[in-house]
Amino acid sequence: MGDKAGSRRWRVALAAVVLLIGVAAAGYFVFYLPHVRAQDTQAQATRFLMDTSVDISAYGRDAETHVKRALGEMERLEEVLSRHIVESEVARINANAGDWVSISDDTLAVISLALQIGDMTEGAFDITVGNLVSLWGFGTGSYKVPSEEEIAAALATVDYRKVELDKTGKRVRIPAGTVLDLGGIAKGYIVDQARSYLMKQRIQRAIVNAGGDISVIGSRPDGNPWRVGVQNPNDPSQISWVIPLQNNSVVTSGDYQRFFIQDGQRWHHILDPRTGYPARELKSVTIVAQTAAEGDALSTAVFVLGWEKGRELVERLPGVEGILVGSDNQVWISSGLAESVVTL
Ligand code: AMP
Ligand code: MG
Repeated sequence: MGDKAGSRRWRVALAAVVLLIGVAAAGYFVFYLPHVRAQDTQAQATRFLMDTSVDISAYGRDAETHVKRALGEMERLEEVLSRHIVESEVARINANAGDWVSISDDTLAVISLALQIGDMTEGAFDITVGNLVSLWGFGTGSYKVPSEEEIAAALATVDYRKVELDKTGKRVRIPAGTVLDLGGIAKGYIVDQARSYLMKQRIQRAIVNAGGDISVIGSRPDGNPWRVGVQNPNDPSQISWVIPLQNNSVVTSGDYQRFFIQDGQRWHHILDPRTGYPARELKSVTIVAQTAAEGDALSTAVFVLGWEKGRELVERLPGVEGILVGSDNQVWISSGLAESVVTL
């Protein structure tokens, strides 16, 4: 009797184990195997956004879908942060200058970082340059060298310290007459958001490139770091340096990126908030930083700070490296980059 009951218990246990193994095996074939196979997919897509060609390459599960969604997210963010898009939040802040305006977390994050970088650079980076930028014709296309009076009038509306940011209430107020322009930082932030989205989808290798604002996840599929070329500011069709990147970002600001020629002189889009004129001491600044937003703001700021103060800032900031090209073509590579950068 006891024997019989015992053997039945064994048989039931055995059946349960067989069943469990069966379920596990079926699960493996149905759920796990396809993912393992799908993990090898590679996708690449390009879209014209933020006035530049944006390119994402990614490797991982469902890479194609995620690359498309990342580009969609970048497009959405451009519509929030560009002052030239009528319905954007920044356009709304500008249209309501003098009043408090409710903003999204994205706009709050960008303005908050921009103000910090403004403080860090003693105002070399100033997101209230909107009137000045328009006066020179950048963004509008009607380029001209303005008169001294026009520059003085525009400069009177430039002071990032007058931007009031209410972080808990999620709102911002700029002085009446001031125009906010996030052109020096938004692209980097948007690149970071695409990267974060891809990371959340467990994409393990990717490169997001928005016209020179670049951020990477992991390393290349062959295990080596991503390699990013930096243009020669005197001939942007040529690459002068190659920087290895792994889980970080690189951004370049250059006088060749947006400019016009008048009176035999090049007038470019990075304006010195102290003078109202394009910053003169450098031709290009490349910054390597953890995030593209930080790199973007710092590349613009260091460009304005110039040869001495710019180098000082790069050396002072932990986790920040850079390459500066002076207007006399002198090249400086920061100490943390000197060994890994390849000069062509
Ligand atoms: P970037 O190409 O990132 O160096 O940024 C240049 C863009 O930032 C310009 O087209 C302007 O929209 C804006 N900008 C120009 N000068 C400054 C400045 N001193 N601080 C902050 N933004 C600026
Ligand atoms: Mg910038």
